[in-house]
Amino acid sequence: TLPNPKGAVEFKNVRFGYNDERVIINDFSAKAEPGQKIAIVGPTGAGKSTMVNLLMRFYDINSGQIIIDSTPIMDITREAVHDQFSMVLQDTWLFEGTVKENLIYNQTNITDEQVVAAAKAVGVDHFINTLPNGYDSVLKDAEELSVGERQLLTIARALLKDAPMLILDEATSSVDTRTEEMIQKAMDKLMEGRTSFVIAHRLSTIKNADLILVMKDGDIIESGNHETL
Ligand code: ATP
Ligand code: MG
Repeated sequence: TLPNPKGAVEFKNVRFGYNDERVIINDFSAKAEPGQKIAIVGPTGAGKSTMVNLLMRFYDINSGQIIIDSTPIMDITREAVHDQFSMVLQDTWLFEGTVKENLIYNQTNITDEQVVAAAKAVGVDHFINTLPNGYDSVLKDAEELSVGERQLLTIARALLKDAPMLILDEATSSVDTRTEEMIQKAMDKLMEGRTSFVIAHRLSTIKNADLILVMKDGDIIESGNHETL
């Protein structure tokens, strides 16, 4: 757990369209306190992934501001924004390389012990040890792993990055109950002490969120927690 969670995030009257023809995010305002879990829900096309894209500064907003710990993200580089986030996206991607390289990804100064500790923390260490060369096994094609294994590896990667904030786009693909439980536990571990934005599909995530944002057509149509909604 991070003792003093950082990462207050404020969306202020954010307006955005991928092109001039159509506004996707209309007038989005929301605030996340450090360490809070924000669940974003809503039907397909509501703008959930777009919000996350904007938070990651993948696109420039048309008007309004996104502020992280009193710094507007437009005032800092895209890399500086990315440094503050770990991401676990739906299409978990692994590249051709060893398991260890996949977990370390683009970080420097990570020790083998840290790699193993992260894998253990999410419960994927046992699986890695069943591979022919353990952490040095080469993943040629991510397809050779099950959906659950891939998800756990990307969660371990995110944990290893140890960023103050987190973006999770929960996978919808079905896994067996035991794997589901492992993933849930790993996600909980990852969210501990980190401001987390979760595009939520699991009811348990929604129930445990400090703030639920219900989106529709680029607007928040409701917000609150599980009790108030
Ligand atoms: P889902 O639950 O299906 O993932 P979502 O809430 O994440 O949906 P977004 O992906 O944010 O929805 O899409 C919001 C709207 O923006 C949709 O109408 C979509 O067609 C449009 N959109 C998304 N990406 C682009 C893009 N790169 N260029 C143009 N329009 C886009
Ligand atoms: Mg989406």
